[in-house]
Amino acid sequence: MSSRRATKIVATLGPASSDPAILEQMIRAGVNVMRLNFSHGSAQDHCDRAKMVREAAARAGTVVGIMADLQGPKIRISRFVNNKIVLEVGAKFILDAARTELGDQDAVGLDYKNLPHEVKADDVLLLNDGLIVLTVDKVVGQAVHTTVKMGGDLSNNKGINKQGGGLTAPALTAKDMDDIKTAMSFQADYLAVSFPKNGSDMELARQLANVAGAEFGHKPHLIAKIERAEAIPKLEEIIIASDSIMVARGDLAVEVGNAAVPALQKRMIKLALKHDKTTITATQMMESMINNAVPTRAEVSDVANAVLDGTDAVMLSAETAAGKYPVETVIEMANICAAAESAEDVKLDADFADMKLDRIDQSIAMGALFTAHHLGAKAIVAMTESGSAALWMSRHRIHIPIYALTARIATQRKMTLYRNVQPLLMDTISDRDTALAQAEAHLKARGIVQKGDVYAITCGEPMGTPGGTNMLKICRVG
Ligand code: PGA
Ligand code: MN
Repeated sequence: MSSRRATKIVATLGPASSDPAILEQMIRAGVNVMRLNFSHGSAQDHCDRAKMVREAAARAGTVVGIMADLQGPKIRISRFVNNKIVLEVGAKFILDAARTELGDQDAVGLDYKNLPHEVKADDVLLLNDGLIVLTVDKVVGQAVHTTVKMGGDLSNNKGINKQGGGLTAPALTAKDMDDIKTAMSFQADYLAVSFPKNGSDMELARQLANVAGAEFGHKPHLIAKIERAEAIPKLEEIIIASDSIMVARGDLAVEVGNAAVPALQKRMIKLALKHDKTTITATQMMESMINNAVPTRAEVSDVANAVLDGTDAVMLSAETAAGKYPVETVIEMANICAAAESAEDVKLDADFADMKLDRIDQSIAMGALFTAHHLGAKAIVAMTESGSAALWMSRHRIHIPIYALTARIATQRKMTLYRNVQPLLMDTISDRDTALAQAEAHLKARGIVQKGDVYAITCGEPMGTPGGTNMLKICRVG
């Protein structure tokens, strides 16, 4: 894995990446976090997959975070007699919550029974990720009568979005609550919540995760997938209630319109950075590589621009879950990220210009950044219990890699998402000088520093206290 790449790669596990050898190759090529999609498979499947990911990471000699991505509310149509119909522009079509028989050319049942109560004449409904567009003519009882504005194939259980948002399904379903327990049983490092509407949805998810995790002594980081129109006015409270957000461009684009998404992506990343939270930019980043061995120029620019926007991670979905080139896609993506980062300006002094600090640990983290940058240090080392020193450092763009050394494996895995942070595991040591010597040995063993090089290191005294960073040492390798 290239140590020059700071932006992290999240890849989705699926049939194309479930062979242990392929998975290991993907991790060697640069995957930092594997995403398990809880829309598919049983509890046992998820546990087996998590085990497979951890084993592949161990064989590759690295650490990989695991993201459990909850399915969330299913706002979907039911099934058809022949599994599929073709809708023609101008045709009439009924979405009927009361229908029990299978669907046909004129009407289909609804898994989401509440739809007739949440739409009115002239609303626009988007099915199958916006490929089918229907306008509502009228609602009669449980039946939503529509006219097809954009036609095409419509098959079983396709999703429904309403343009502009407004469908009220709760973000956490009974299935999600069970899945949270499963995810905690294998100590998923990240829990992604689909379709949250506000901060309280995330607070509820946090409570459920902490209760389920308590049994295993585990607290996951929470990721809010921003994919509903309603979430946009509530962005700041969602960010505050979460550890990370995902710019979930697939569903978001359907709800707010394609054209609004690039500006929203920039706004979300900026706001998350301001609150010391991390961001994942997701969906269709390398879409053409599902079938082709090379990306399009537009995809290359999309990934590079997400890096320049300041995202912590870029995500692969179908490209690695079901594509023909899972390993090649990761290699391409890693190269694009590294090239985009090398073109970035360091604006550390501007970042610091109006910064207010009220915490000792954060002040030390900023001191390390400033000094390392202006001194031309080769590396910054953060010895950290909770990971917060590394998180603060990672909110600023510099061309010096940050090595986060921790004795806690859960902290190491949570830092896999932090931009420009290489999380390393060290022995638990109570005495400071031994710990500092071990840190330098780690750097030397990895060829990060050589005789004469300077690096900055932060730690806390006494050692082993979360949030206890209070020392900065500048070292020259002897
Ligand atoms: P999904 O979320 O892939 O789970 O739908 C991402 C998105 O909507 O972009
Ligand atoms: Mn989605």
